[in-house]
Amino acid sequence: MNIEFQINALRDELREHNYNYYVLDSPTISDFEFDMKLKELQKLEGEHPEFYDANSPTLRVGGMITKNFETIVHEHRMYSLANSYSKEDLEDWEKRIQRNLGDVPVEYTCELKYDGASISITYEHGELVRAVTRGDGFQGDDVTTNIKTIKSVPLRLKGDYPEKFDIRGEIVLPFDGFAQMNEERVANGEEPYMNPRNTASGSLKLQDSSLVAQRPLECLLYSIVGKNTNISTQFEMLEKARAWGFKVPTVAKLCKTTDEVLEFVEHWDTNRHDLPYETDGVVIKVNNLQHQDELGHTAKSPRWALAYKFKAEQVFTVLNEITYQVGRTGAITPVANLEPVLLAGTTVKRASLHNADQIAKLDIREKDTVFVEKGGEIIPKIIAVDRSKRSLDSEPVQYITECPECHTRLERTDGDAKHYCPNEYGCPPQITGRIQHYISRKAMDIEGLGGETVELLFKEGLINDYADLYDLTKEEILPLERMAEKSAENLINGVAASTQVPFERVLFALGIRYVGETVAKKLARAYKNIEALKIATLEELTAVDEIGERIAQSVVAFFANEKNRNAIERLMLKGVQFELSADKLKNQTDVLTGNTFVVSGVFETVSRDELKKMIEDNGGKVGSSISSKTGYLVAGDKMGPSKRTKAEKLGIPIISEQDFLGML
Ligand code: AMP
Ligand code: ZN
Repeated sequence: MNIEFQINALRDELREHNYNYYVLDSPTISDFEFDMKLKELQKLEGEHPEFYDANSPTLRVGGMITKNFETIVHEHRMYSLANSYSKEDLEDWEKRIQRNLGDVPVEYTCELKYDGASISITYEHGELVRAVTRGDGFQGDDVTTNIKTIKSVPLRLKGDYPEKFDIRGEIVLPFDGFAQMNEERVANGEEPYMNPRNTASGSLKLQDSSLVAQRPLECLLYSIVGKNTNISTQFEMLEKARAWGFKVPTVAKLCKTTDEVLEFVEHWDTNRHDLPYETDGVVIKVNNLQHQDELGHTAKSPRWALAYKFKAEQVFTVLNEITYQVGRTGAITPVANLEPVLLAGTTVKRASLHNADQIAKLDIREKDTVFVEKGGEIIPKIIAVDRSKRSLDSEPVQYITECPECHTRLERTDGDAKHYCPNEYGCPPQITGRIQHYISRKAMDIEGLGGETVELLFKEGLINDYADLYDLTKEEILPLERMAEKSAENLINGVAASTQVPFERVLFALGIRYVGETVAKKLARAYKNIEALKIATLEELTAVDEIGERIAQSVVAFFANEKNRNAIERLMLKGVQFELSADKLKNQTDVLTGNTFVVSGVFETVSRDELKKMIEDNGGKVGSSISSKTGYLVAGDKMGPSKRTKAEKLGIPIISEQDFLGML
């Protein structure tokens, strides 16, 4: 028989068995037979490297090593989901949708919210070409080699799939697989993993893909994005993806009313413990994709979807001791150190107590038996104390008056619930915290340097602020604990590469209090470079759209401080970006400043998202629904009728795509 033919036939056969076993859960041959066939294929491929196929089933066993995960910009952004916790939240959401779409019937697809690591996988001509983590939503890490080892991820598709698309899903670790991994770890004298979610997401970043192959990970898919996919509803999307060979959970349900949605939520709130994976809620999505498009997104999440979080789980345990943490801004957070207890699938050892008021309000004391709750957030909280179990010699907590790290007297300003250590530039966790923030993913994203190394470098007296990072030499860091030639090089290269990070992220990285990612972008846009921002007055700053008094004061105070100005000066000499790149400036003007636009319908020459970007790039604002503040309604094809009526009633000019482009 022709060898190439034989190899391909074996590949097809193994693919089918993989699908039967991992996607359909119904194998048709024994594991032994499967292994024999796989070995045979491996042997043939080894003898005939000329028939190599990057998507052969033999690659499932892994073996490829990824040293650095390449950063990939998502072609379609990966959004978060807005959260809701009650029937009222759900009803408010529905009202907003109806207001936006007008009085058209709206259906909802309900799915479970799987708690793992999100992933976006690109397929071209039915072949898996790339898998990327969510990262910050704009860009993530290329983890293709690792994802290919997950058996329920098809490497080649079946049926009538679009030429090119991305599919979105969640990588999860089922409970029993997780338990088994932990048993093995404990048997080997290793610490067990904390919870399935973190273990799943940690797995994606393992360098050795054969280790990933050994973990019983699964990939559950829920969304397809791309052009010309020929899909018109969310529910149809799930069915099609399933037909192409993806593992798409079958619990999804199409609901006609919010009552039906609530029924679904209640059902799974009680029955979720029978599922093989961790879930933390239900995701409700407007079913019609044209409606989805019409509703669009906020800065963070789609308006057409909502995560309805399940009720938090609760448990009793003993509070052993209260300790205090100092954050990068000097804020003090009291932490409850608990007798370890199992809660919602994870072992809980610590809980945040927030601030002194919280401790006083609940009258929490050391050695108390406390009621701990874990909701959507990672850190659990204490919600009550069982006084009946309190011993007679128990004493109220004396809140600390001095910083536990540098012994400076703590301050508390009116209106702020937290105590602060004012020793901004002398208090170790504030110094390292600022540097850790600077290097973090969403800020300078310095590869080869992690939080622990920052602490080590600081302890060794090698760095005292973020500008010092750029003066580090290989000779200086090589003698450090656990620092090898290669890691030292990576660190130095990572720092050097950060000089290419764009200005708006540098601005965020500086760690100005209240200047988060979005505010940093606004300020960068408004001032274009640091020199202009440095001399901005309180009045000028508050005149910038969405910059309030509190942020403005913080910015002015930051630049008034000589230490900060020095650090910036030094960063500048090292080549860090302190102005918007020419590229960004090119398409930006102020011609639309002061105008709010609502965009509706489908457009001819640009996509809706491009149009919105053009509005923002030219100083305008994008509104979501029509109000008296709307300047123009940009109307495309198939625009919602209620928007038109409303705009006409309020006398708001309705303009076409061409009119709009003409304004620029
Ligand atoms: P959050 O990170 O809490 O904003 O929630 C958004 C994340 O939920 C997404 O990035 C997905 O990874 C995850 N997710 C889990 N299940 C689903 C689902 N059925 N539909 C959409 N997103 C989901
Ligand atoms: Zn301190």
